[in-house]
Amino acid sequence: MKTKSPNISRDGSCVVIPGMATAHSHAFQRALRGRTQRRPTSDSSFWSWRGLMYELAAKLDPDDIYNISRFAFVELALAGVTAVGEFHYVHHQPDGTPYDDRVILSDAVIRAARDAGLRITLIRTAYLRGGYQQAPMSGQKRFIDPLVEHVFHDIEKLKKRYKTDDQVHVAIAAHSIRAVPIEQVRELSDFARENKMPLHMHVSEQRRELAECKQEYGITPIALLNQHGVLSNNFVGIHATHISSDEIKMLGETQSYVCLCRTTERDLGDGLAPTAELINAGAEICVGVDSHAVSDAFEEMRAVELDERSRTEARTVAAEAPKLLDAATRAGFTAIGMKEKWHQDQVFLSAADPSIACVDDALLSDAVVFGATPRAVQRVTINGRVIVEDGRHVNYEAVLKGYEKTMQKLSL
Ligand SMILES: [Zn+2]
Repeated sequence: MKTKSPNISRDGSCVVIPGMATAHSHAFQRALRGRTQRRPTSDSSFWSWRGLMYELAAKLDPDDIYNISRFAFVELALAGVTAVGEFHYVHHQPDGTPYDDRVILSDAVIRAARDAGLRITLIRTAYLRGGYQQAPMSGQKRFIDPLVEHVFHDIEKLKKRYKTDDQVHVAIAAHSIRAVPIEQVRELSDFARENKMPLHMHVSEQRRELAECKQEYGITPIALLNQHGVLSNNFVGIHATHISSDEIKMLGETQSYVCLCRTTERDLGDGLAPTAELINAGAEICVGVDSHAVSDAFEEMRAVELDERSRTEARTVAAEAPKLLDAATRAGFTAIGMKEKWHQDQVFLSAADPSIACVDDALLSDAVVFGATPRAVQRVTINGRVIVEDGRHVNYEAVLKGYEKTMQKLSL
């Protein structure tokens, strides 16, 4: 079927699309790429991967977080991303003691994005416990705040610090139902509504999380959030992989956002959200790079449809190209509180790039969404400012140097 998206046009030798948003990122995890793929001696699972991620998180100082994040953000820019929602949960020193400047690590991530030229929403994440009836593991101590008031305080501090920079937004997250009891999720949700900022939360990513939630509350996470009035078009559920048909309905009726992170979900063996059913029910879909296991915004976008094809053994199941592009642009910007900004950025793709060459105007959106790779990205502008030119990031060499310095130090 031929479709033409109003968001894709031609400009000389280029095809122009709006800047893309990745609504869910943990930039520091970029340092794990290629380093978690071998079979461990014990079981290989999400939970064994999480152990490796905790080991990395325990080693990082503010400069490391800055260097790794800046490199990750430059790679996103090279793939046509102009706005990132950074779900940030590494807050304190390795033993859990806050830094003198409590927000020094959030600040490092924000500066990394700004120095890479990207827009960022720093999603200050609440992480209040190790799990239901579980003492924090040593690797979790950096993440934990005893009270939600600490989270609110840090958000106010960040908002104040960056109030004159309109490319920096601040939002709030509950890490997960494992890490935040429902009473505090409600408080975070109330705060988000009062402050007109989105509330993000990992939900139903792994079956074990469902079992733990049932053990504590008698129901599964989405149903619990619905019962407590947390779901709304201000709520962004990350993953929503293992959910019931009633929960699909709840997310749809409340017009909640679901952020799919397919390259990471594949990497971690999470499973696959019932994407087509979510879309049909009325949920808003956006996408995220999450662990940076792969950084390809085009792949992230088309995987929403293509992975459903693998499951259903059918084609054109969840969405066609315009809807997928909408998920990667308008919906993603809205999910990170930048609704009014999404049309200000542009990504110029070389029309001669092999991935999209010789395509009819009427099929442009299909060709770009289902075929383009980051190699086609020639130029990226954010509100008119060029951050990628001739397929190179304007500051690539210096950024790579910083990343190399940190990776040598960490010797992972
Ligand atoms: Zn995540």
